[in-house]
Amino acid sequence: MQSLSGKIALVTGAASGIGRAIASSYARAGATVVVADIDADKAGEVASILGGGAIGVAMDVTDEAQVEEGFSRTRQDLGPVDILVSNAGVQIISPLVDFSFADWKRMLAIHMDGAFLTSRAAMRQMIASGRGGSIILMGSAHSHVASKFKAPYVAAKHGLLGLARVIAKEGAKDNIRSNVICPGFVRTPLVEKQIPEQARELGISEEEVIRNVMLRDTVDGEFTTLTDIADTALFLAGFESNALTGQSLVVTHGWHIQ
Ligand code: NAD
Repeated sequence: MQSLSGKIALVTGAASGIGRAIASSYARAGATVVVADIDADKAGEVASILGGGAIGVAMDVTDEAQVEEGFSRTRQDLGPVDILVSNAGVQIISPLVDFSFADWKRMLAIHMDGAFLTSRAAMRQMIASGRGGSIILMGSAHSHVASKFKAPYVAAKHGLLGLARVIAKEGAKDNIRSNVICPGFVRTPLVEKQIPEQARELGISEEEVIRNVMLRDTVDGEFTTLTDIADTALFLAGFESNALTGQSLVVTHGWHIQ
């Protein structure tokens, strides 16, 4: 296994799902992990399960003050961040014509503002430390394709590709790399919630949502797994040169083939 020994890794949305799986794999690889989440209690619980000096930090990624506070606590308690995974996210399903402006803004705030605020804070620490680092943004198959009822999610996930490319260009001189992971459907609480919601919107059964909507275009009818994404995040975190920067890795069982 790739070693992240001596590295400090901050993962947002790490109290659940994909973020938690990445945090666990980083801890197993020897990193000291900051479990940053809006759910402070769960972040603390996950950190204590991870061990290895992991800490839980309360962080709403849409709140500039909380992001700054979480990063400065990290630097004080553990040292400067070497790896950021900007992963926190939610999903709201609705036809565009019925989407409220408030929900649109909330989605963009979590996915886009969150990625900007955490990347900026991480870059500042990576530059000051002189060690550079790896910034990983959690995109989606929806960074490349569109689906009905997900207008702000698709728009924001496409936007992350642009942000990662700018970070790659501006960060290179300080040895900061930035890449986007684009998972297919992974059975986390975020996805379990939308199966009945999509069934309602489309007027089909939940089984049909899984077979004919979520997995229809994969090569093998399989969900992407937490391990698939954690392994990809481990590979990107440990990849030490600027050869691999500004890219998106699509991990979707062939749903989207670039
Ligand atoms: P999840 O619901 O299991 O976990 C999301 C975590 O983010 C939760 O712990 C939640 O408390 C936290 N969070 C929500 N809002 C936050 C905020 N404002 N600040 C800080 N933390 C916040 O979801 P997941 O499926 O693990 O999704 C994680 C990321 O992966 C998201 O960006 C999602 O868009 C992306 N993604 C998921 C899938 C999938 O199929 N599950 C596919 C592609 C991309």
